[in-house]
Parts: sequence; structure tokens; C-alpha cells
Amino acid sequence: MLRMSSLFVRTLREDPADAEVASHRLLVRAGYIRRAAPGIYTWLPLGLRVLRKIERIVREEMEAAGSQEVHFPALLPREPYEASGRWSDYGPTLFKLKDRKESDYLLAPTHEELFTLLVKDMYSSYKDLPLSLYQIQTKYRDEARPRAGVIRSREFVMKDAYSFDVDEAGLDASYAAMRSAYQRIFARLGLPFVICSAVSGAMGGSRSEEFLFPCEIGEDAFVRSAGGYAANTEAVTTVPPVEVDSSSFGQPIEIVTPGASTIATLVDAVNEAAPKPDGLWTAADTLKNVVVAAVHPDGKREVIVIGLPGDRDVDMKRVEAALAPAEVEMATPEDLEAYPELVPGYIGPQAVGPQSARPAEAEPPAPRYLLDPHVARGSRWVTGANKPDVHVVGLVYGRDFEADGSIEAAEVRAGDEAPDGSGPLEIAKGIEVGHIFQLGRKYAKALGLSVLDENGKSRTVTMGSYGIGITRVLAALAEENHDGRGLMWPASVAPAHVHIVAAGKDDSLYAAAEEIAAGLEADGVEVLLDDRRKVSAGVKFADYELLGVPFGVVVGRGLAEGRVEIRDRAGETIEAPIEQVRERVGE
Ligand code: ATP
Ligand code: MG
Ligand code: MG
Ligand code: MG
Repeated sequence: MLRMSSLFVRTLREDPADAEVASHRLLVRAGYIRRAAPGIYTWLPLGLRVLRKIERIVREEMEAAGSQEVHFPALLPREPYEASGRWSDYGPTLFKLKDRKESDYLLAPTHEELFTLLVKDMYSSYKDLPLSLYQIQTKYRDEARPRAGVIRSREFVMKDAYSFDVDEAGLDASYAAMRSAYQRIFARLGLPFVICSAVSGAMGGSRSEEFLFPCEIGEDAFVRSAGGYAANTEAVTTVPPVEVDSSSFGQPIEIVTPGASTIATLVDAVNEAAPKPDGLWTAADTLKNVVVAAVHPDGKREVIVIGLPGDRDVDMKRVEAALAPAEVEMATPEDLEAYPELVPGYIGPQAVGPQSARPAEAEPPAPRYLLDPHVARGSRWVTGANKPDVHVVGLVYGRDFEADGSIEAAEVRAGDEAPDGSGPLEIAKGIEVGHIFQLGRKYAKALGLSVLDENGKSRTVTMGSYGIGITRVLAALAEENHDGRGLMWPASVAPAHVHIVAAGKDDSLYAAAEEIAAGLEADGVEVLLDDRRKVSAGVKFADYELLGVPFGVVVGRGLAEGRVEIRDRAGETIEAPIEQVRERVGE
């Protein structure tokens, strides 16, 4: 039983000066967290209890999904992160330090490298896979703008899970299992969420999705339609292709749809030559944003790169150099099934589509090329067009063509049709509480994780990574569940279930409160008992409302008639006989 007389808590009547959002204000005022340094927080007993309950739900669902818990150090050597490129790619966000021998270390921002090495250390056969591992562990990121208490802090707790499979089908299954585990976790936590596509593209079938908690103070913007489309605005371009009249470009080529091995080469090359700062380009990213496959007149098929999502400064020459020897393989029917972004005649971003059949006309119209605005903005060297006989090399938007100005304005707007045609889009704000990601083979390749398949052939393992911000989820729950007077925890994570207040001076009140508390605890109901003798009833009521335990039981004047007040923190207050307390606060 928790007792206010001895609990390590000090509630505050004033808002902390640095707190801008409700969850931050209330978690500090109610004595759940204390600031230790900018973006770094100490967890007090009440906060820790909520955190542990969130972790428990997450653990149960991870185990149910077949993932096994491990625990890595947070202090790690440089080498694995050097091998993956993230020692430098992560930039100033990475906390770096040196040991006494001047060797480089870091505080892990996330653990892909270490999981990869651990599995490499222990497993070597396809028979060992699939495998799913997770941990709940402290991460460090020197965020440019720590904000809103533990919503964006520099030290935070993350659940990160990783899947290991031999092939794409395995990865798909692992991803799907984690996705449904996440749905169950957030449902059990009572936290509203929207699953948003986190990669660019029009066709759905995304390989990376974010779980966003819709909330005005969120830093992510997302769009959604009534028909079920949802995407982070970073990941969506909805403006229809722009028609560009530019008859002076290019040499004739045929467009072919790339097959699986071409796509694999491409994804690897893009990740090598133009690393994404915060993760990896997936096949889906790549297909929706990067590739045009073409055949030159001399018959040589080659991959042509046309731009990367969200990054205007990638070194496209390096991408092209990495790809130079790659010959395009045609997509098989299986490839078309495996990659929903591909359509026959695929030419790139926003799939300007299968070539539209040109109606037979006596006089062919002047050539007009459909350019995707997203591509056009991102393109450096080459761009695509949706005519089978046209391809444009060395095209730079702004220098070589203008497209009636609408290209630069190609941001998603409320009311735009969703890319999948599922209705008009609305725009909302959200907080990213979880992120699931098909990594593919980048880390396995960089760190040499392969297994022997049934024919004794070495196969690079394909991986997924799946994060939940545990401490951020706690703040999100506080954001969702509070009023002007304090927190209002859902029962699933509340630090206690019933908050009993002895309201008055008389010894009999305290004796009765003790008795009710003991009875509830005996039934397994968690109780917080306000047994403080020298504190006024008014202060105790204010603390009850601030702390946010779901039910309050006030033992006061009514005791003489054997009655107490039962308060639902989120609902009404009733007076009832003591005997009814148990059923009224039922769990
Ligand atoms: P954000 O876009 O908010 O910066 P992220 O995309 O960088 O998050 P991931 O690398 O996907 O984060 O990490 C997985 C999860 O960890 C996120 O979905 C989020 O819930 C949590 N998280 C990330 N950064 C922080 C942070 N600074 N403080 C608290 N939680 C965080
Ligand atoms: Mg981040
Ligand atoms: Mg993010
Ligand atoms: Mg993320």
C-alpha cells in the first residue's frame, strides 16, 4: 500500500517555468518526474510505477508475438557504428565519448548494429531463423530541441525489437506480427493511434509505418482520409503529375519494369551512396522515389536514378556510380506481386502509371511529358516521363524546365484527394509513439550477418526493427488523460487504482480509512492512502485530483452513518455505504 505520509513525493501548486505542454507540467507538479539536466529526467516512485506498468504490457505483447527479451549495454564501442556508417551519419545527435585509453565510445541512440552482431555471433543456419529479439532500454540522443519533458528528451526508454529472416516473405510475416502486437499494445494502454505510412508513395503497401498519437502538440503532421489512407506528411505527395512541355530532351529509350534482383542492387547502392541520416532506404522508398529502369537504343538495360525522397542534397553521382554495372532485369509476375509499388511499365515515383494508351490519331499531338512534382523537385541528373519513347537525361528542374510554378507548391493540402483515391485528406498533428521498419539487408551486409540456406549457400539475413518510446508513451497518456486540475490515468497504467482520503481530524476517520484500504488490498486492488494527519482536507483533495488515480474514496463526515464518498476521477461523485466501495471501484 502506498501511503501519502511516507511516499517520496512533493506536489507543486505552481507550474514549472520551463513546461509548455500539459503532460510536462502535470508530471512535474504531481511528482512523477524531476528535471536533472536539460532534456534529462529523474523518475520518482509514482512515475516509475506507471512506467513499469507500460513496460509490462509491452513485454506481455512482445512475448506473445514470439519475441525474446535481451538486454544490451547503452555504452558501446565505436566500431560497429563505424561499420554501418552511423558513427558519422547520425551527426551531432550521437553522444560520443572516450575511455581512459582514448578509445571512442558512444551512448546508443538505437541498437541495430549490436543486435546484428549478437545474432551473427550465435547463429549460422537458416534453421535458426526466423528470430525475434527485443529489449527495453535507455537510449541517448542529443536532440537539437529537447522539448515537452519526456516527449522529446535526450535520455529516454525505448522498447526496440529486431527480426531476422532469410527471405522477404519471412520479413513480411515478422513485420505483420509486430504490427499487430503494436495494435494490441496501444489498445491495451488506451492510447488512440493512427498507423501512418512513413515512406513516400502513392500506392500504399508501405514497408515502414509510424504509430502516431493524434494530438495538437505533436511535432509530426499526418494526413488521413475517411477511406483509411494515412501517412506522415513527410511521406506523401498527392499533387497530380504536372504536365511539362519540353520537346528538346533526351534520347529514345524503352521503359522496363525492374525485377527483384535489380531492386535489391538498387536499394543497397542507394543506401551506400546516399545514406539516410536516420535509418535506411527501403525497397519501398526506392521504388517509389528512385528508379527508372530503361533500355538504351544500343540494347543495354540500365538502372536510372531520378531522386531520393526528402533529400535534395544526396550525391546522385555516387548513386549512379554504384549502380553503373547493374543491368536491369525485367520484373517477373512474382516481383509485381511482391512489390505493390511496381506496375507493368513502372517508371518511378508516384507511378505516373502504366503508359496510357495513346488514342490513334492522324496527327500525333506535340509531345508532353508527365513529370511527378516530387521527382522533379528531387531530381539532380535524370528524370522520367510517362511515354514509352521518351527519357530525359541531365534534366534539372528550374534550369531546364518550369512547370507552371506548381512544382514548388506541391505540398499536400487539406481536401486533396488521397493518393489511393480513398477520399479527401484531412491534416492533423500527432506524436510518434512507435515506428516499425523493414530494414532489409543493410545492417546484415555491413556487419556480415549471413546464414547457410538449405543448399549450403550463404544468404544475407533480412531484418526489421520495431521501436516504441516507452517514456514518450507515458507522457502521451498524460496528454490524453488530464483536466484543468490534474492527471487522470487509465486503469491500465495508473500508479494505484483507488486513492483513499481521510478527510478530517478524528481518529475514527483514519481507522476506517485504514480498514477500507486493507480490505481493498486484500482483494488485490492497489491503494494509495492519504493518511497524513497535519494536512488539510482541501490539500488532500487537490492532491487526489493532481495525482490522477482513477477512483477516490473520501472518508469524512458521512462515516457516522457508515457512508463514504466515491469519486470517479473522470466522472461523477456519489455517496455510498462503505460495503459498496469494493464493487463501485471494481477493477
Ligand atoms: P522523432 O521523429 O520523434 O524524432 P524518431 O523517428 O527519431 O522520433 P525512432 O528512431 O523511430 O524515433 O525511435 C523509435 C521510437 O522512440 C519513436 O517512435 C519514439 O516513440 C521514441 N523516441 C525517439 N526519440 C525520442 C526522444 N528524443 N525522446 C523520447 N522518445 C523518443
Ligand atoms: Mg528523431
Ligand atoms: Mg520520426
Ligand atoms: Mg521514427
